[in-house]
Amino acid sequence: MCGIIGYLGIELCRVILLSGLEQLQNRGYDSAGISLLTNKINIKKYASTKSGNAISKLKENIEVNSNNGIAHTRWATHGKKNDINSHPHISYDGKISVVHNGIIENYMVLKKFLKGEGIEFKSETDTEVIPHLIAYHLQETGDIITSLKKTFYMLEG
Ligand code: GLU
Repeated sequence: MCGIIGYLGIELCRVILLSGLEQLQNRGYDSAGISLLTNKINIKKYASTKSGNAISKLKENIEVNSNNGIAHTRWATHGKKNDINSHPHISYDGKISVVHNGIIENYMVLKKFLKGEGIEFKSETDTEVIPHLIAYHLQETGDIITSLKKTFYMLEG
């Protein structure tokens, strides 16, 4: 088991998200990461190693001030435990970042479709299809709600 926390409000959320991750850590995790929104999406993500656990590494390396963010603890199912496979994952155009717990059962078909559209993947995870699909639909429709619906209809699992 692992977890997700998000914050949108008036407080600086770096500390809130880190504290949320600390509360989630007793559910078990092998990696952790945070996206913070400023004028762009700022991502830091780490897998735990012998030299330090992922949440401690995040604490040492997050400096961005933002009041809008998401954070994640991962328990790898698809792709090994490393920094690149850690969440959040980001879309090819840098506009959508996603954290996800669970499994996308049909990710191979979706990955093949997206690669056919010229979209490059950075990680080995099933999750990475999600931000790319949302961005792909957003580019076509210009509407985030429609893009989310179109994406969710495509996902199995
Ligand atoms: N299937 C995803 C991965 O391997 C999410 C695993 C989880 O639930 O943390 O990255």
